[in-house]
Amino acid sequence: MPRPPGPRRARFDQDETPLAPAQEVEVVVSRETTKPRLPAPARTRVFVVANQKGGVGKTTTSVNLAAGLALGGLTVLVIDLDPQGNASTALGIEHSPGTPGTYEVLIGGDDIAAHAVASSEAPNLTVLPASIDLAGAEIELVSMVARENRLLRALRTYLRDHEVDYVFVDCPPSLGLLTLNALVAATEILIPIQCEYYALEGVSQLMRTINLVTGELNPELRVTTVLLTMFDARTRLAAQVADEVRTHFAAETLPTVIPRSVRISEAPSYGQTVLTYHPDSAGAVSYLRAAEEISQRGAAAATLTEPATTGGAR
Ligand code: ADP
Ligand code: MG
Repeated sequence: MPRPPGPRRARFDQDETPLAPAQEVEVVVSRETTKPRLPAPARTRVFVVANQKGGVGKTTTSVNLAAGLALGGLTVLVIDLDPQGNASTALGIEHSPGTPGTYEVLIGGDDIAAHAVASSEAPNLTVLPASIDLAGAEIELVSMVARENRLLRALRTYLRDHEVDYVFVDCPPSLGLLTLNALVAATEILIPIQCEYYALEGVSQLMRTINLVTGELNPELRVTTVLLTMFDARTRLAAQVADEVRTHFAAETLPTVIPRSVRISEAPSYGQTVLTYHPDSAGAVSYLRAAEEISQRGAAAATLTEPATTGGAR
C-alpha cells in the first residue's frame, strides 16, 4: 500500500488522559490520511505469539494487539497458524472447512496475498485465515523440502509487495512444525503468561526450543515481549505470579497487565475483538495500552539500533 509523501510518523501523544474508545479512534484515523497515532517501526516487526500451553491467551493477545495497532493507524497482518481458527473467528473472518488460507500457503505454496482477507475490526488489518484443514499440515510438512522455512518464504514474498508495520502469528498450543515455521519466520517472540499456578512451567521448555531455533535456524529471533494475561487483582496468587515473571523477564515484561475480563472472553462469539465489542471496558483499555507500549518500544529500539538506510522486510 503506497504511503503518502512526507514524514510517515506522527509524534506519539503521551499525555495521561484515558484512551479514546476504539470507535472514535477509527474515525480519527481515516484510511485516506494514514496519519498514524502510534509510531511505526523502522521495518516490519514480525511477532510470533507462542506458548505451548493452551488457554493462556495467545489468540486473545494476537487479535487484540493486532487490532490495537491497526486502530492506531498502523498496517497489520495476522497469520492464523492454529487449525482451530480462533484468531480468524475473533477478527470476523470466515474460516469454514475448505476456506483457503494458511494451509494453502504452507502446503500448496500459494501466496499469502491470494488468501489474505481484510478484517472489519480496523482499517489496514488483514488476516490469513486458518480452517480445520490446517490440522493435517503438521503431518504433511514432515516429508516436505525445507519444511521449517515455508512460512518465512511466503512472508518474505508478501512483504516485498506490501508495506506492513506489524505481523502477528498466532500459534497452536504445541511446539510442532507449525510453531517451528512461525519461529523461523519471526523476528520477535511475544509470550503471553497467564497469572495462574504453574505459569512459568512450560516456559522453560519454550525457551529451550527458542534457543535451538536461534542457534540453528533464525539467529535474529529474540524474546522481546512478555505479557501478563488474565490477571485477577483479587488474588494474592496472581500478584505473586506477576512478580515472579517480572523477575525472570525484567526487561521484556510489559508494564501493562491484562485483567481477567468477561468482555474479553465474550467478544469472539460476536466475531469481534474487545476493542470494538466494548471499547470502554478495562480489558479493551489494557490491550490498547499494551499495543501502545509495544509500538513505543519498537520505535525507541529503532532509533537506538537501526541505521537510517534500513527499511522494509528482511
Ligand atoms: P490460547 O490461544 O492460548 O489457547 P485464548 O486466547 O484462546 O488462549 O484464551 C483461552 C480462553 O480464555 C478463551 O476462552 C478466551 O476468551 C479466554 N480469555 C483470554 N484472555 C482472557 C481475559 N483476559 N479475561 C477473561 N478471559 C480471557
Ligand atoms: Mg489459541
